[in-house]
Amino acid sequence: MNLKLPFGLKDGKLVEISEVERGLNCDCTCPCCGSKLIARKGEHKVAHFAHYQNPECEHGFETALHLAAKSILEQRREIRLPELRHDIGRFGQQKLTEVCFPKVTEVIVERRLGDIVPDLLLDFNGQQLLVEIAVTHFVDSEKLAKIKALGISTIEVDLSRFLKEPLDFQQLTVILIERVEQKTWVFNAKLGDLLRKKQEELEAAEKRERLEQEENTRRRREEWEKSQRKEMEEKDQREKFYQVYKKSIVVRRPKNLGSFNGEALHVDDCPLKMNAYHIGGGFYNYFANVNIDCRRCDHYRGMRDDMASIVCLHDYHVKKNKAE
Ligand code: SF4
Ligand SMILES: [Zn+2]
Repeated sequence: MNLKLPFGLKDGKLVEISEVERGLNCDCTCPCCGSKLIARKGEHKVAHFAHYQNPECEHGFETALHLAAKSILEQRREIRLPELRHDIGRFGQQKLTEVCFPKVTEVIVERRLGDIVPDLLLDFNGQQLLVEIAVTHFVDSEKLAKIKALGISTIEVDLSRFLKEPLDFQQLTVILIERVEQKTWVFNAKLGDLLRKKQEELEAAEKRERLEQEENTRRRREEWEKSQRKEMEEKDQREKFYQVYKKSIVVRRPKNLGSFNGEALHVDDCPLKMNAYHIGGGFYNYFANVNIDCRRCDHYRGMRDDMASIVCLHDYHVKKNKAE
């Protein structure tokens, strides 16, 4: 596919179509084959350069793009690199490096390295990075194998959108230098070390979390056992206290007072003298009907011993009031 040439060479310098005059007055040559170029700046088509009298050369577009990228990188001396992500088994996809913006110390274009001719070779103070600029041809498995054999980290910049959109220096600068969306890591020479380090970090964090969970469970169990012990102690103390203030229930068959099916539950010696019956010689027994009197009484604290007794706190309350 012959793509429309966005850049031409003028006086040894790469220029874009907007910088030159229309037609042959552009005074430009093809950056790839050196043929004379004509600047086509019609109203209907996207402005571009075309070979004058010669057929379009095969690699003109790519060479122009690589030279433009080189020129931009040499001017800016920096490039934003995308974060590196990779699957780590049960931990799923993990970020291994952050987005970074390193300083470029050297830019070399289309120089053979082993079995490949990378579009750009960047140097960052001794560390190398290959940059593949893809418009129609992306790195395939064959090229990837060669890159891996070289052992040099490589990113690919996807410029396929310029098959449909006009390309100029400004657009190329934004995508090549500033943005990361069109860049992917084809190969990262430090991947093995980064994966090992990340896996160790994740395993250590997982172990820490497990130990924390175990510690929390142990602490919760201890707290629960402590609260259970406290509850039991309080219950024991309450029971001991209630034992002191128990009154036995007597089942009677009185003629009237609070009988149910002819039977009534009484406690004798009610301190409030709720009811009385004559026991002879002018003496009376004072009693309370459990269901009628005690249940409504402020001193009542319920039944005990399978309904054989009640707890009456009258004497306790009297003592307490006196003490206060
Ligand atoms: S709870 Fe009240 S009514 Fe019952 S015996 Fe005690 S003081 Fe009397
Ligand atoms: Zn050419």
